[in-house]
Amino acid sequence: MKSYMVAIVGAGPAGYFAAQALQNLASDELSFSIDMIERLPTPWGLVRSGVAPDHPKIKTVSKVFEKIATAEGFRLFANLELGSDLTIEQLKERYDAVVIATGSARGKKLGIPGEDLPGSLSAATFVPWYNAHPDFKDEQIDLSSQTAVVIGAGNVAMDVARMLALEPSELDPTDTADHAIEALKKSAIRNVIISARRGPEHAAFTSPELRELPKLEHTNVIMHPEDIAAAIVRAGDEIEKDTKSNLDAMTLIAESDATSHERTMTFQFLATPIEIKGDGKVEEVVFQHTGGDEVFSIKCGLVITAIGYEAASLEGIPYERGKVVNTDGYVSDNLYVVGWAKRGPSGVIGTNKSDAADVMKLLVSQLGEPKSAGDITEIITHNKVVTQLHWQQINAAEVAAGEPLGKPRKKAVSREELLNLGAL
Ligand code: NAP
Repeated sequence: MKSYMVAIVGAGPAGYFAAQALQNLASDELSFSIDMIERLPTPWGLVRSGVAPDHPKIKTVSKVFEKIATAEGFRLFANLELGSDLTIEQLKERYDAVVIATGSARGKKLGIPGEDLPGSLSAATFVPWYNAHPDFKDEQIDLSSQTAVVIGAGNVAMDVARMLALEPSELDPTDTADHAIEALKKSAIRNVIISARRGPEHAAFTSPELRELPKLEHTNVIMHPEDIAAAIVRAGDEIEKDTKSNLDAMTLIAESDATSHERTMTFQFLATPIEIKGDGKVEEVVFQHTGGDEVFSIKCGLVITAIGYEAASLEGIPYERGKVVNTDGYVSDNLYVVGWAKRGPSGVIGTNKSDAADVMKLLVSQLGEPKSAGDITEIITHNKVVTQLHWQQINAAEVAAGEPLGKPRKKAVSREELLNLGAL
């Protein structure tokens, strides 16, 4: 029997699915001790800090994560940051293999004038703010204007637009951060415009997300029938299945009768943002009709860009174009990468399962003799490490606090609060 020690850095979906793949590859001749390292006091990555709170079903995958985490040979070391608390070299020296699963946390920039004005921010700030990520709890989001513009035509743009356009009491039975529910209840925003630079036939939304829009109970969702009809003509007869499904869903929205709800979400297509203007804060976004000369602007007080993500770099790991430089998940020496840090910010949570399984197969095929060179416990310099037992305590406390309020959990927001719940 050969026993290997593998460190996985990042406790999000890609990290858990990598651990699961190793657990599945274990046999009578082969076993793995897996140490998962996470910089926040909480695991689950995007399932806790990214998935929209009004999509609780997507979060049920956390049950799978907990099963992986409670299997023999798995240990969680959360509240430990690569770079400040330990280095990648220290891990590489001690473990037979190290797997980077740190995702893509930085929002891409438009690179247009005015993008840094107050009132202009990335979904990479707004999403973790409403999801109670400790690093974003103090963000001041200006919700005092009537109109917000969300730039991008992907599912993140859609999540952001929905969160701004929902009747905020609909968030009461969710695990949205209390500070966000409070701010959204005071929000003056009534018009949310989702703006795509290309036509409906090229939108990156997926059809289940489009199909749920007409079911919103307090929001008028507007797509202009002429935009969708023109897209159907441009898409032609040899249309891909997913595009057809999207255009069918959009046709349903475009053909539905307008309602009298005071909150609206309007889709705008073929509009390239060229400048954000304002005197000390966002006041308007200037667009050019894509492929044409026409320039027009929308007055608004908030602009949120949801145009993709890139990986935040970690010392000692090579990066290029927002990803870790890798060949099919292999980086160098005994270092591997999975998930968005490997392939960029695409795909749904489940995409990481097959992706991580492939990389772990490669990892196992390249293992030499076990090196038995120690583990992370020799490196840890502070006594506030959140183990699986601490996390289970935090998790149970949040769920218990949510129960009387009809929420799946009431999230603790600051690091201190989280550590207290874990009795640390
Ligand atoms: P995405 O699906 O790649 O969409 C990014 C959007 O940004 C595209 O519409 C893109 O338009 C646009 N864009 C990029 N650069 C731009 C620019 N300079 N100016 C204007 N628009 C620009 O990314 P995402 O929305 O961040 O989502 C990431 C992944 O997570 C996706 O796979 C998504 O499906 C998934 N996700 C899933 C769910 C769910 O299942 N409910 C929820 C959230 C996220 P072009 O096509 O023109 O480049």
